[in-house]
Amino acid sequence: MLRSATTISFAAATLAIAAARTSSAYVWIGYWPTDEIEMRASSVSFPSGSSYRTALGTVEDRFFNNPSKCWINMSYGDTSVGIDNGQNEVWFSSNDDYLPALTASWRNGSGEIVEADVIFFNGDLIDDDPDDWQEYWTTSMSKSVVAGYDDGADEVRYRTFESSCLHEFGHVAGLQHEDDEYNLMGQSWTHIYCNGSTCRSGVGEDYSDGLVDIYGRATGSFEDVGVTLFRHLGSSDGYSTHAFNKMYSSSGGSLSSDLYGNQRRYSVTRGSSYRVYFTYENNGETSHTVSAAFYISLDSTIDTSDTRIATKSMTLGRNDPYTTYATVTIPSDLISGNTLYLGVIIDYNNTLSEVDGSNNAAYHIIKVN
Ligand SMILES: [Zn+2]
Repeated sequence: MLRSATTISFAAATLAIAAARTSSAYVWIGYWPTDEIEMRASSVSFPSGSSYRTALGTVEDRFFNNPSKCWINMSYGDTSVGIDNGQNEVWFSSNDDYLPALTASWRNGSGEIVEADVIFFNGDLIDDDPDDWQEYWTTSMSKSVVAGYDDGADEVRYRTFESSCLHEFGHVAGLQHEDDEYNLMGQSWTHIYCNGSTCRSGVGEDYSDGLVDIYGRATGSFEDVGVTLFRHLGSSDGYSTHAFNKMYSSSGGSLSSDLYGNQRRYSVTRGSSYRVYFTYENNGETSHTVSAAFYISLDSTIDTSDTRIATKSMTLGRNDPYTTYATVTIPSDLISGNTLYLGVIIDYNNTLSEVDGSNNAAYHIIKVN
């Protein structure tokens, strides 16, 4: 294929690319002429048995669960990676030109992407910063480790390779940065889903919508709804920024809270009602009306065996993430002084057959008075 264009899209750097097309939110810069993208992983960066190889496999799976025809087929053991060599590759480099990570891609004159490489900087991701703060990649998705939940108390922070790599794979497929709603092509380390003590990555609604627009809908049923504690906050250099959803009084007033572990814990009163915010997504092919159920749980893993205190029906289309609240009443029979978990499960009654059932729950932490 004639390689006439040499556009390089810097994934995490500051160079901006004119968008080929904008829709309601997502932005894309090019497309592959085929639905299957072949990616090759460096044998040095992703050796057999390493946690990074496992994480890359997870990223491949997460990407596969997008509702478009596009998918990425990973192969491993590439011993000769490099930019502009006719192969799509992913590797770690000690060259800080790649800080913290970037996707370099080339298009031909028709807008078709002909090569895309993903390079992660291997070292301190903020080492040009004048202060002592450090940040490193991690394959851990433990809530006690990931940057999305970091309380800033330590001078070392860990950015999730999984969600960042999934962000870079969005660039590989042709997506560009996006800042006007909660989405993975913005701040990737706060685009995660947590139930229990472990978080997970996922493509999310806007990314899914963009890929469907470029590549068309997958054949077969690819339905998925999800819920997360995070929401859209604002914009920074073209990236969406995200923050935690909160709980409020029934009239929208602030609640007193403290930090519990690395998450806010709200003081609530038995018998009183509260607004409980979460962000809901449809990461699938078609619109659905589903029900969210709200639970009180003794532990941070929310499941349908917990005590259900409310339900809320909502119609989720594949358009924009939906940040909203439900009003719930704290049961009067809870024991005062206890720390509990106020969780949600979207499609709790399992009306949908989903490609991924592990992004359906999220929680706030409460202390009962
Ligand atoms: Zn990027």
